Amino acid sequence: MRMPSGSVISAAAIAEYLHSRRRWVRWRERLAGRQYLPARLGDRCSPLYLVAHHLRDAGAARQLSLAIEQDWMGVPKPCRDAYDRTLSQAPTLMVVQLRRRNACGCLGHRHSVVKEAPFAEPHDALGGVEIGEMDLAYKPVETWRALPLSDTAMDAKFSEGSRLEEFHKVQFRLKLLSIILHETNHLVSPQEPEIAIRQRSVSFYHDALAAYVENATSTLSLTIDRSFFRFG
Ligand SMILES: [Zn+2]
Repeated sequence: MRMPSGSVISAAAIAEYLHSRRRWVRWRERLAGRQYLPARLGDRCSPLYLVAHHLRDAGAARQLSLAIEQDWMGVPKPCRDAYDRTLSQAPTLMVVQLRRRNACGCLGHRHSVVKEAPFAEPHDALGGVEIGEMDLAYKPVETWRALPLSDTAMDAKFSEGSRLEEFHKVQFRLKLLSIILHETNHLVSPQEPEIAIRQRSVSFYHDALAAYVENATSTLSLTIDRSFFRFG
């Protein structure tokens, strides 16, 4: 049975469900290094994203959860509003299979059926909520140039070492976030053409990154002004 859209599932309910399974199942999962990290967009109760990953990819899973929970709240409101309809209609639970690479070389795909073992079959403990799934390959995202021209232009604004490093971290997380939104959009609107979905996610990434750069460079000039003052 499908719950009406607008239903919510808590991270605690997921943890409880995972723990309630048979001991040998949990043991096998643990030996395989499989882990689940929940993350919710800061201003929304639903969907709950669940980052399924291998223990060795825990760092990347953490970056993805930071992007979902924190960076999302830092992007300009019009960027978030562009996904309002998509997110209101998204499955209550969104499993993200985080991988290093995909054999086909793609950054991500939506799945027509849920493959992640604990969520592939309906379970009473999950309350019959709708579940969606996608995969995301993070290694190629690191080097993916989403917007070659403006990425380079923005890069040039950070000549300083630590600020450039911070910029690259934020850029990586915003790329992850835009891919998650892109695939959620596909899941919710299977008929919408790729070009429209891509346009939306590229604009999201561009505007979110531009806002970060604007904010970071204005605080940078403030710091410079202050140091001039100190030496003056
Ligand atoms: Zn697409």
